[in-house]
Amino acid sequence: VSLGEFALIERFFAAPARAQRVRADVALGIGDDAAVLAVPPGRQLVAALDTLVEGRHFLRGFPAASIGHRALAANLSDLAAMGAEPAWYLLALTLPAVDSDFLEQFAGGMLALAAEHGVALVGGDTTGGPLTISVQALGLVETGTALRRDGGRAGDLLYVSGTPGDAAAGLQLAMAEREAASLDAAHRDWLLRRFHYPQPRVALGRALRGIASACIDVSDGLAADAGKLATASGCGVHINIESLPLSTALLAQAGAAGAARQALGGGEDYELCFTVPAALETQLTAAVAQLQLPVTRIGQLVAGAGVTVLHAGRQVEFDSRGFDHFAAS
Ligand code: ADP
Ligand code: MG
Repeated sequence: VSLGEFALIERFFAAPARAQRVRADVALGIGDDAAVLAVPPGRQLVAALDTLVEGRHFLRGFPAASIGHRALAANLSDLAAMGAEPAWYLLALTLPAVDSDFLEQFAGGMLALAAEHGVALVGGDTTGGPLTISVQALGLVETGTALRRDGGRAGDLLYVSGTPGDAAAGLQLAMAEREAASLDAAHRDWLLRRFHYPQPRVALGRALRGIASACIDVSDGLAADAGKLATASGCGVHINIESLPLSTALLAQAGAAGAARQALGGGEDYELCFTVPAALETQLTAAVAQLQLPVTRIGQLVAGAGVTVLHAGRQVEFDSRGFDHFAAS
């Protein structure tokens, strides 16, 4: 790197990351050619990488702290879906220009979430070009206990955490401030926050080990991601519309039908969608009791293939992008 880039990395990333002192297992961190990390015996390394591109995953003018937060959150959410404990991350930053205000806030958002989850920034890459952020997260899981997408069986119960659909509604608000005027300020703030600062469900993922038969995080939309889990598990999936946990803010913004559509089709919730064998339902209730996070049964895996959305037991029209005709059939 050039001296300018070196100073940039030091000021905005390396120095604040060192100051966090979040982990003792970084044998060698930022500054050498690569990081050296201690994987404890009995654990497997779990790796994930996600990229945010300006214009596609965020727009110019979105808060820089949110962009930093979301870049890391998307990766921690992937580790959460595996039941892993996040440990370290690397950041590949492509910048069109050196904008100190942007970098300070971007790094602030990312490092604040990192501190919450005890993950250490251990390296990365900095280069010039269209604004693009790639984060690679590394986590640890007790050997053989990682949650996967392919462990579900017909009859297993389908659950989702939190209130899906909020992030998609928040994105709409972030893109068109006009719509926000008619919405209660507290509801607007809730939805915007759910898009800009999603909380990766790490504690839930950890609690689901040994209980969930399959798990996925909701990044592309609940129906699409439940469908991926079902396909990986060699099953179909039924989702009951009336069971969907809808936030009061989403209901206020979108109405009952619109809220259900957002919950099923909207993306970037970073909630966990998972299946549990019926015999383990009581264990699930006990395991999630101390988490400050609702977990709701919304359907089940079935023999066959594909996603079937039901309203009062009757199938409603639906395609992979979301609803075509909510009220149809
Ligand atoms: P190399 O050329 O050997 O790949 P660099 O000179 O690009 O390494 O980077 C120097 C050090 O700074 C390395 O430890 C690298 O991991 C780290 N680094 C570079 N960019 C970032 C970044 N955006 N955030 C955190 N660490 C970074
Ligand atoms: Mg090198």
